[in-house]
Amino acid sequence: MGNLIEKVSQRKISRRTFLKASAAGTATLALSGCSTSLTTVGTATDVGEKEGKWVSATCWHNCGGRCVNKAYVIDGIIVRQKTDDTRPDTPDVPQQRGCLRGRSQKFQAQGADRLKYPMIRKNWETGGGKKELRGKDEWVRISWDEALDILASETKRIKETYGNASILAPAPSIEIQNLLTAYGGFVPSWGTVSFGSWYLTPALIGFSDNCIDVKALNDRFDMRKTELVVAFGMNPAWSSMGNPTYHFLQMKKAGVKFIFIDPIYHDSISVLDGEWIPIRPATDMALLLAMSYTLITEDDPVNNPLIDWDFLHRCTVGFDADHMPKDAETDENFKDYVLGKYDNTPKTPEWASEICGIDPNTIRYLARAIGMQNKVSILAGWASGRAQNSDNLPQMFMAIGAMTGHIGKSGHMTGVCCWNYAANSGPPLVNSGGNGEPYLVSPLKEALCEAEMWTAILDKKYKPNKIINSIFGYPAGWKDTVKGLDLKTLVPEEDINIQMIWHTAEASLQTRDGMNKGIEAHRTVEFVVSQSHFLTTNSKYADLVLPVTTLWERAGDIAWGTNRDALIVSCQVIEPMYEAKDDQWIAEEVAKRLDIDPSEIVNSDRKQQFFNKLAGSTVVTEDGQSFEPLVEIKEADISEWGVQGQPQKGRIPLKKLLEDGVYQVERYKGDNYGFIAYEDFRKDPEKYLANTVSGKMEIYCQTLADIVNNFGYTKIAPYPKYIPPVQGYEATFKDWENRVEGDYPYQLITPHYLRRSHSIFDNIPQLKESCPNPVFLAAKDAEEKGVKDGDTVLVSSEFGQILRNACVTERLVPGVVALPHGAWCDIDEKTGIDHGGADNILSGNIPTGQGISGWNTCNVNFEKWTGTPLIPDHEKPQRIIF
Ligand code: SF4
Repeated sequence: MGNLIEKVSQRKISRRTFLKASAAGTATLALSGCSTSLTTVGTATDVGEKEGKWVSATCWHNCGGRCVNKAYVIDGIIVRQKTDDTRPDTPDVPQQRGCLRGRSQKFQAQGADRLKYPMIRKNWETGGGKKELRGKDEWVRISWDEALDILASETKRIKETYGNASILAPAPSIEIQNLLTAYGGFVPSWGTVSFGSWYLTPALIGFSDNCIDVKALNDRFDMRKTELVVAFGMNPAWSSMGNPTYHFLQMKKAGVKFIFIDPIYHDSISVLDGEWIPIRPATDMALLLAMSYTLITEDDPVNNPLIDWDFLHRCTVGFDADHMPKDAETDENFKDYVLGKYDNTPKTPEWASEICGIDPNTIRYLARAIGMQNKVSILAGWASGRAQNSDNLPQMFMAIGAMTGHIGKSGHMTGVCCWNYAANSGPPLVNSGGNGEPYLVSPLKEALCEAEMWTAILDKKYKPNKIINSIFGYPAGWKDTVKGLDLKTLVPEEDINIQMIWHTAEASLQTRDGMNKGIEAHRTVEFVVSQSHFLTTNSKYADLVLPVTTLWERAGDIAWGTNRDALIVSCQVIEPMYEAKDDQWIAEEVAKRLDIDPSEIVNSDRKQQFFNKLAGSTVVTEDGQSFEPLVEIKEADISEWGVQGQPQKGRIPLKKLLEDGVYQVERYKGDNYGFIAYEDFRKDPEKYLANTVSGKMEIYCQTLADIVNNFGYTKIAPYPKYIPPVQGYEATFKDWENRVEGDYPYQLITPHYLRRSHSIFDNIPQLKESCPNPVFLAAKDAEEKGVKDGDTVLVSSEFGQILRNACVTERLVPGVVALPHGAWCDIDEKTGIDHGGADNILSGNIPTGQGISGWNTCNVNFEKWTGTPLIPDHEKPQRIIF
């Protein structure tokens, strides 16, 4: 292995060369930061004389891109990368091209800062030792045997002392989930994560089946038939690089006009030449209510038809008093709320303007623009739902889509457009098979909401939930889940005593709300273990860290998640780096030490699992009516792989698929794979019932109110109603009525950023140099505070403080501060100030409604930093321990 390390370090790949090669991805994306200018598209580095080979490698990260990646390997070292070149690139059948992040994966897999050996904290001892030193202690290298013995004995000791419900494994890897379940159970975490209120609400009101609903919008070819897109909180050019923006560009070329409603003039608006309507964060509900008011008061079915009464009456319930669902428990309805019947406050554009900051005439203009006679797509990103008290917001989008009839017709759409199905919706045309492995579910009733997880550890109390274990992630089955449950009675708080935290494939401490509280919680429990590639935030605050292999060091896999057209395959690229081990091996070794038969938790090795997935993959038939096996497998393949399996016929030979790294369905205008969301429902709602109590889309939904209110955090109404967030525009004032400014008068938003996929890639020096991760400040606000571009700024909230260098811009709504999501924290232990700029240092642990993590509802203040200026992130030393 030492030989490999030497070979990697001798390779002449300069950071500058990388920047040139990666610049194509960033040259036009002008808002990445203010201090780096990238304009050159260069060639890949010189790889010398030796012959190597291209290996299909994929990008395994959760940005939503789902891209092809290839690695050129010489002598077991990756020396260059490329992306999809398996076919000519056309607008209808585009290559699945990766971004600068995916193309820098060789720096990730072969990084000098990879965790090389198992390590224990110097001052650790059984029971924790000096627990307050977590995050600042020295590390001591230990052997794998020592590490596994410590892990097994601490798991056993803690279980025997405090019970299984003292072991927290937030969103664990399957192997560790199975292990801990076989050992009697553990406490998982649950949360609305990226989806916000789009997690649970849509499935309950008949707006989609699941939070990841690939069938919520029309096919990408049909999207080109729309005339106007009105987009809320969507910036695919940053959050889902890869093909989504390219698909939007095809819409633009077809003549589609774009209006973006967003606090920031982002690069998607710029690329698509969109009209920008600036809005204050988390005030979409007020805007949409006022648009509804305009539609209701200006509609004239003969002279000015704005509302599609036919769709509204046939396909929905709850709009007005004459169309209420049978199970409604109040006399209230949406229309009368909008007209102000219940609170003497008509939701006029003037009313909304005070909240959302948009001029009343612009609100009226927007309402008229989406009227029923126009071909409109009303699209939203999940960002709109990452706000406290936003549980009714998806219902509001559904209501306005139903009012204007932009549901179930060609060229008309309403719904979520983001992540890996952004601008490419419809049932998948190619699917991976399963890996054949068991999936065991913890038998314990305890589970912690991520928006109160750290508080629960510190206070030893948590809010139990009647439905959470079975409904989250699978909300389509909500009817069975709630059958027979008393949703009117709240469950009281219960005791919980977490004494062990086991981190695996997640980044909970970094990416869940309230990081300062999270660190305190980590310094409280008796044992923390973390499996990771680098000294991530999870690992930094652990007692024991275990180095694990990346996907490129394993037998191969199929990229997870959905890319409607393409199945993307990764082969093993390099041998495991240093002493890194597979998570599966770790689970099996710990199982043996806990007297658990490993076969209870794992069926087969990674190669067999990869083979099972390939053998079970299916592709749509040409008529679009059914599926057939994708991969042709011969007897010789099975013996070469040394796996169990049967020969089969398929669309593409196994070797060719592995060589290409991708199978992509040929698409063309008029093919058999077109899709119009809700088309059947619109045509015959009596036959194709929505998955609701009434069988219709529920603008009044008693189930939604009952389920969300039973969580016991905050109360919502059964219909779309404006409820100010705990932290939001109103809360920036200490006296809202008289508009007296409070201590935290700015609203923080935390957009996804080019440098990272969530928190992944934040340690790559080349990406740090190309994307400096500033805090974006509105020019007017910066001027008032005497802050200039490049100045170091202290951003404070009620929950913590961070330092960042300022990027002063006219592209941001005054009153809003934008801090990119996912930077690794780097806390100065003397002051408690984070020099890394982690967004969750500023957020609190404040659950509302369905347990939403309200990342876009956090109030802050900022000032020019008078201490030592922050050095650029790429000049800081890497976290190299050994
Ligand atoms: S980070 Fe996302 S967009 Fe970039 S290569 Fe990976 S999957 Fe594609």
